[in-house]
Amino acid sequence: MSRLVMKFGGTSVADLERIRRVGRLVAAEVEAGKKVAVVVSAMAGKTNELVAWTDGAGAAAQGLDPSDDEYDTVVASGEQVTAGLLAMTLRNMGLRARSWMGWQIPIVTDDAHGRARIEDIPPEKLGAALDGGEVAVIAGFQGVTPGGRITTLGRGGSDTTAVAIAAAVKAECCDIYTDVDGVYTTDPRIEAKARRLAKISYEEMLEMASLGAKVLHTRSVEMAMAHNVPVRVLSSFVEPGEAPGQGTIVCDEEEIVEKRIVSGVAYSRDEAKISLFGLPDHPGVSSEIFGRLADANVNVDMIVQSHARTEGAANMEFTVGKRDAARAVDIVRAAQKEIGFQDVAVDEDVAKVSVIGVGMRSHTGVAKTMFKALADKGVNIQVISTSEIKISVLIDAAYTELAVRALHAAYGLDAL
Ligand code: ASP
Ligand code: MG
Repeated sequence: MSRLVMKFGGTSVADLERIRRVGRLVAAEVEAGKKVAVVVSAMAGKTNELVAWTDGAGAAAQGLDPSDDEYDTVVASGEQVTAGLLAMTLRNMGLRARSWMGWQIPIVTDDAHGRARIEDIPPEKLGAALDGGEVAVIAGFQGVTPGGRITTLGRGGSDTTAVAIAAAVKAECCDIYTDVDGVYTTDPRIEAKARRLAKISYEEMLEMASLGAKVLHTRSVEMAMAHNVPVRVLSSFVEPGEAPGQGTIVCDEEEIVEKRIVSGVAYSRDEAKISLFGLPDHPGVSSEIFGRLADANVNVDMIVQSHARTEGAANMEFTVGKRDAARAVDIVRAAQKEIGFQDVAVDEDVAKVSVIGVGMRSHTGVAKTMFKALADKGVNIQVISTSEIKISVLIDAAYTELAVRALHAAYGLDAL
């Protein structure tokens, strides 16, 4: 009998009616002969409420922040409630079930409170419960340090719990039930012709996730890739027996027979562009700028440097998250003398649009298609960056939709 992990997010367990629906989906898998571990999130909105309890003005004055161990004690509690409620529901349906908190399994993490990483999940206790025919209902998002303190895995972390459990108990698959029925070629709110992908590779999913196609927690995909756990993204808003749609399977590239060159078009409006003019053109300048930004924990994404007309001078443009933009400008401005540039400007009206596909590794002309499609629509490209399986361009934010639709068509994704 094979083991299966099913994970339900906050909207899927938002009230008792929905928890009963989850119960029916779990029961259907048990009836089909699966040994099931279920991972649940807190009810939708609950974690935000708990976080607000800890970071209110009064608490901040007491120095409570996410790196405090008591922050985790508070925010981990939402998952305890839903795990207990689902276990009760399953029992009422005549199934054998029990809840498991992170510390009871245990899900051992490091002690980086508020963003802990899973280090170990001994499979024995959980495996024995599953083999004994009991459904294990696991509180997502939470773990425990070797010293016995409760931790949480960072917002959205219950996807990571689910994949880690699937790896630990060697489940055949990790089914992530959510409020969308799979991963799409692009955002259907922008392009009505967006198609659900039957399969997508781990690497492509990682690029999609970090680019704002926020279906899965990035770390859960990294973990699935490291342990080769197939992950299926499914809609929870179906009844057992109803056609659930097949969802999207996130798996190894090798298992995708039908090869595409580009699998998806992603976009992000979270970036800001910072331009430095009249930089001295000599070794150590970039190191000075990006060293200072790194020391202040500012994440830099795209970078271009070019020579200015004037001999010995250069210009540089780079992007940072919008919320870091003002701070980044302050940091470079404070070092204007040391770095020796003439002027700095910031532009928040930009968007990053990317095309992603493992097929780029073996096909030429992918970038050309992108640039031509954008040129045909009169979209100007400000910055370009590439990786092995992704090409990103920074454009004027006003053209985001136009660019996404043009690229979706140019790579034949409309017709999939
Ligand atoms: N409840 C947690 C959060 O809202 C974890 C999760 O839902 O994945 O971030
Ligand atoms: Mg989530």
